[in-house]
Amino acid sequence: MLAATIAVLVPVALAATWSARLTRLERDVEVIDQAGSIAATAGAYLNEYLNGLDSLASALTRHPGVMALDPAQCRPLFAGVLRGQPLILNILVTDTSGKIEGSALDARPGDEVSPLALGYVTAVVKSGKPAVSELMTGRVSGRPTVVLAYPVRNGADAIVGVLAFGLNVASLQTLFNDVPLPEGSVVTLFDSAGRVLARSRDAERYIGKVAEANPSAPRDVPRAQKLRGLDGVERFYGNAALDRGPWLLSVGIPTSVAADRVAPIYRRDWYTAYFAFSAVILLTLWLSESLTRGLNRVRFAVQRIADGDLSPPAPTRLPNRELDQLYAAFTTMAASLRDTHGALDHRIEQERKMREALQSLQRQVVRQERLAAVGVLVSGVAHELNNPLQAILGTAELLERHSNMSEEELEEIGFIKTQSGRAREIIRNLSRFSSQQGGPPTPVDLRDVVAEVVQLRRRGLESASIALELDLPETRPVQVNFTEIEQVTLNFVINAQQAIEASGHIKGRIRIRVFDTGRRVCLEVADDGPGVKAEDEPKLFQPFFTTKPVGQGTGLGLSVSYGIIESYSGNIGHRPNEWGGATFYFELPVSDSAKSPAAPAGRAKSV
Ligand code: ADP
Repeated sequence: MLAATIAVLVPVALAATWSARLTRLERDVEVIDQAGSIAATAGAYLNEYLNGLDSLASALTRHPGVMALDPAQCRPLFAGVLRGQPLILNILVTDTSGKIEGSALDARPGDEVSPLALGYVTAVVKSGKPAVSELMTGRVSGRPTVVLAYPVRNGADAIVGVLAFGLNVASLQTLFNDVPLPEGSVVTLFDSAGRVLARSRDAERYIGKVAEANPSAPRDVPRAQKLRGLDGVERFYGNAALDRGPWLLSVGIPTSVAADRVAPIYRRDWYTAYFAFSAVILLTLWLSESLTRGLNRVRFAVQRIADGDLSPPAPTRLPNRELDQLYAAFTTMAASLRDTHGALDHRIEQERKMREALQSLQRQVVRQERLAAVGVLVSGVAHELNNPLQAILGTAELLERHSNMSEEELEEIGFIKTQSGRAREIIRNLSRFSSQQGGPPTPVDLRDVVAEVVQLRRRGLESASIALELDLPETRPVQVNFTEIEQVTLNFVINAQQAIEASGHIKGRIRIRVFDTGRRVCLEVADDGPGVKAEDEPKLFQPFFTTKPVGQGTGLGLSVSYGIIESYSGNIGHRPNEWGGATFYFELPVSDSAKSPAAPAGRAKSV
């Protein structure tokens, strides 16, 4: 971010510097141009003034008194003219040898002009044209002056004298007062030798001094230049050459003027740059801050996923579209990971249940094996016990037939017979149960099946305080394997007991009913337990479906029963009953060999 800021700011700073420099150069050129045009204007002023003097001189040289070089006429004439010309120190007229013949200021006729001034007299006499003197001190006025000299001719056009205007160079600068100049500017008039003739500032101090920087002839001096002036101030100079003299008129504007003009622009640019910089930096900080915040949110979302929390992250607004898309991608990733996780959990749970069911099945198989072994043992023992029991019964019957038996003895023998008969019945049941291998179907009376099951479950039901009701009218036999149908019925009764116990009833009831429906014979077991839940109904007859705790239910009872009843083309099912519990039933086709159904009169019995 810092690098990006520098990358933006450095070119901006370079461009600002370049623009500032260009602006400064433009202002310099503008000031130089201004100096040049002022120089031209000031030159025009001076020329105009000198032309005026030329006209004045022309008029004066044609005056008879001047042409006659008559001091008496010249003096009042010159004095009158001088009063109207504040920039002229003195007006005088000499003869061709330089003797003063007439003067506006006091001078004795016959005085000579200074030897220095003789130069311009000689030049005028020789050339017959006006001439300009060097800078010198006026012979009469005693002040620095430049003399403008004009030839005076007589009626025969011969030069008889020279008319001279002594210019007050110290006051010449008043000519430039009307020229609009910036503060610190100076207008200087140089003669051909580079000496100061007139200066708009501190004229007395600099008049006569040579500007060493301008040694060349006025015409050769460049039109514009940058110099340090006589007063040590650096200025832009605009120069204009005047044919008169020849002189050089120079207008100097301090370089500080250009700097002053540039200052407000610089200030404005600086403020603009300052605000632009501040805006860029603030924008950069804001962008970087919001980007960091957005990245942190994405990081937290990723960290949550990495920590295993796959719940959907809270929806959030991010500063730009790319981060938004990244966040959405992580959210989608979390969702699909969550789904996969859920599917895996489900699978693991299923496998766990399967494993438990297998283990339970394994235990059941072991138990069955053990039961089978016990069955074999029981069948052997039953067989062995049967013979002595038959002998006891037979002997008891023989004893009964003896005529000399008292009433009390007969009662004792009857008791022996009853108990032996009961023992024989138990042994028969045991041997039938122990020989529980599927065998060929035989005609079976369902009431016998019920009796067998009751025999097996009676004690268990009693101890659980469950009342057993039996409704067993005579029915036609069904062609089945006795043991298999006994297993189905036993399973119904065990399930009914477990359902009642699970419901927490202190006293429960179970009703076993058989009845003939015409083409089929039906057996049903009803209980007053909690009934079957609606969501469990579709799964009841599936293998391994159980709602009982591990170790208690295998989920095989009903599925095995279903298989058995189906194998006899029967029908198995359940329905709710009037007690609020469940009634499980099966129907079996009547055996072909069976007779027509017995009278429907039933009998109900409670155990
Ligand atoms: P298990 O008895 O080992 O659970 P079953 O196949 O015999 O296996 O029974 C399957 C499920 O049917 C039971 O777990 C139970 O939820 C339901 N069930 C069976 N008989 C009854 C009943 N009389 N009342 C209520 N639910 C029953």
